[in-house]
Amino acid sequence: MKNIHPDRVHLLGESSCRDQGQYVLYWMSLSFRAHWNYALEYAVGLAEARDSKLIVLISLEPRQEHFNARHLTFLLESLPETKQALADRGIKCITQVAPIGKSIKDLTAEAFAMVTDCPYLNEDRDRLERALNVAQCPVTQIEGNLIVPVEAASGHREYAARTLRPKVTDIYNNYLDKPTSSKLPKSSLNMSLKGENISEPEKLLHQIEFEQSVAPVAKYHTGGFSAAKSRLDRFLHNDLEAYEDQRQSPTQPAVTQLSMYLSMGMIAPAYVLKRIEAYLPSENAEALREELLVRRELAHNFVHYTARYDQLSALPEWAQQTLDEHERDQRPHRYTRSEMEAGATHDDAWNACMNRMKKYGYLHNHMRMYWGKQILAWCNTPDYAHQTLLYFNNKYFLDGNDPNSYANVLWVFGLHDRAWKERKVFGKVRPMNHNGLQRKIDLKSWLKMDPAR
Ligand SMILES: Cc1cc2nc3c(=O)[nH]c(=O)nc-3n(C[C@H](O)[C@H](O)[C@H](O)COP(=O)(O)OP(=O)(O)OC[C@H]3O[C@@H](n4cnc5c(N)ncnc54)[C@H](O)[C@@H]3O)c2cc1C
Repeated sequence: MKNIHPDRVHLLGESSCRDQGQYVLYWMSLSFRAHWNYALEYAVGLAEARDSKLIVLISLEPRQEHFNARHLTFLLESLPETKQALADRGIKCITQVAPIGKSIKDLTAEAFAMVTDCPYLNEDRDRLERALNVAQCPVTQIEGNLIVPVEAASGHREYAARTLRPKVTDIYNNYLDKPTSSKLPKSSLNMSLKGENISEPEKLLHQIEFEQSVAPVAKYHTGGFSAAKSRLDRFLHNDLEAYEDQRQSPTQPAVTQLSMYLSMGMIAPAYVLKRIEAYLPSENAEALREELLVRRELAHNFVHYTARYDQLSALPEWAQQTLDEHERDQRPHRYTRSEMEAGATHDDAWNACMNRMKKYGYLHNHMRMYWGKQILAWCNTPDYAHQTLLYFNNKYFLDGNDPNSYANVLWVFGLHDRAWKERKVFGKVRPMNHNGLQRKIDLKSWLKMDPAR
């Protein structure tokens, strides 16, 4: 249906639709976009089959555990555009601030069916569970934020990129079809449904309890599909041809800066890859495909098949063992979490990383690697280092709270990597230090650079 690969479709009951109802409901829980949205188009297909209306629900919990002012502002910025694009197709989109159980119980009472996105993180799975407990109609989940759906790619946790790569590169082309979209014959726009006024985000935010201390970064990153698409267009035009060489060069960063849009589902990875495909075969397009398809989907594979993906116990045996063996090694520098958060260490480059992620919500991959490895070197124990890294990562990065966050933070401790020559503190985990950074990049230029390019 609608050009949607069957591997993307997960019926959570015996059927996708019941015989009675007034409309179909799409709970837009993770794919915050109207463009190239498989779940939305699947819901449109169900509505057409029932000759009914479609309603889209965006639901915000009154108490946010994982999103702070920075993340919420980015999300709210994206909503007017999505709402308008849906309205142009006769689809009413409402935003509710309420516990998910309440919204779903009320809205499914008269629904033929509910469609929603596929969650990966435990908090998103729990939310889906709460919704399913009260849903009064059949529910279907659609995978729209991965290129190859996680279980179609692999039936188990993969060891490293090299084991996932052949599995996804062989089949990803089967999953790049654009879903067919159409205008619904029956409009839901005049339905009277409870919803918040998203054109007044401050009022809306007043109803939500969230961590206020992390300032929004709207000046540097604006939420929404159009902003993501402009970034992609600019990248393809200006930077793709330097991607392979400059991807790891923070002083000449030829990267997409799409991670926050992908993380919030504001742009479809299949759409991004389709656009890149036009430049294949070329080593630059292949290098980007590697990040978007192999590395990103490896992170999803990891959280999907690892219950405690937020613990050091999720590391491979060799990494846990070597970190244990070196836990008592003398550390030349030790810092507390608050000293690090204040950017008050002896290391200018590291302090700049911390200050930039606090100010801009983004850091180049190479600097994230350096930043993370020093936290491992400076904390009393690997466990404290891991908790500290996750805390900073998810608090300050706009792309935090993502499967990529958990997999990459654990990469610092050896996940998806191999054993290296044994040394102090790091054991056999890949080390990174200031001298190495200085050899690799022109640190003076980086420190002078304006990160808001
Ligand atoms: C310690 C540490 C923490 C990190 N935390 C996060 C995080 O919270 N959220 C996050 O999305 N990424 C995280 N990364 C991975 C990576 O740094 C970012 O995805 C990347 O820098 C985003 O910039 P970009 O969009 O310009 O990437 P590009 O180079 O343009 O790559 C395109 C897309 O591919 C994906 N990608 C790129 N590198 C990786 C990678 N190593 N692993 C998985 N996917 C990748 C991203 O979705 C990215 O947007 C972290 C890396 C490290 C070392």
